[in-house]
Amino acid sequence: CGIVGYVGSPDVKAGGHNALDVILEGLRRLEYRGYDSAGVAVIAHGTVDYRKKAGKLTNLLAELEADPLPKSQIGIGHTRWATHGGPSDVNAHPHVVDGGKLAMIHNGIIENFNEIKRELAAEGETFLSETDTEVAAVLLARTYNAQPADSKDLTVAMQDTSRRLEGAFTLLAVHADHPDRVVASRRNSPLVIGLGEGENFLGSDVSGFIDYTKKAVEMGQDQIVTITADDYQIVDFNGNPAEGKPFDIEWDAAA
Ligand code: GLU
Repeated sequence: CGIVGYVGSPDVKAGGHNALDVILEGLRRLEYRGYDSAGVAVIAHGTVDYRKKAGKLTNLLAELEADPLPKSQIGIGHTRWATHGGPSDVNAHPHVVDGGKLAMIHNGIIENFNEIKRELAAEGETFLSETDTEVAAVLLARTYNAQPADSKDLTVAMQDTSRRLEGAFTLLAVHADHPDRVVASRRNSPLVIGLGEGENFLGSDVSGFIDYTKKAVEMGQDQIVTITADDYQIVDFNGNPAEGKPFDIEWDAAA
């Protein structure tokens, strides 16, 4: 029910942030939306690493203390309100597929996931969870891997995947092949970009990054954004350039 994404500079100097710190702070601020599970994924040393737990954020924090994640400049975090598959560790997000290289988180409901799941299963794909989200993750991985080896593009794969999905979704994905970017898609579900200096953010609402910047861009319907540390690019589901709505966050983060 809450989503946070972060990309900072690989060259972390004074003022740079550890992705996990930003993400956990964002998830804490998004707790008010309600949730039953929480999880995070980061990319460090070219590898996706993640932790996820049913229950409150304190459960995830205990897990992170027992089994810490490495420092990194990129990551995604999620609080889940279960709609498909009960609240459990395995159904919690992120869903990590493609041999551990692709992590996805999702707010919303993918209405046609059963149909897509049957198709993918017929092609030999297997699923660990009962969620609609994992189906989207597997579809994204297949779409990505169907691209030519020398021009693999996570944003294009997200476009092709998003066109197949019906319902409501905010999807965020990171891939070990592209440790400099988070790709996000939205349809009938909110997503806001936060603009920092040498770092950029994503949130299901501005609470996800309110401690770090007051400059934001609201995403339009059926759009995909790719954020890197220094830039963001918005396209529609067909890859045509698109624009969000920039605004300044006016309320005070002191609360
Ligand atoms: N439908 C997804 C699930 O049940 C996402 C729910 C949410 O918005 O947190 O896992």
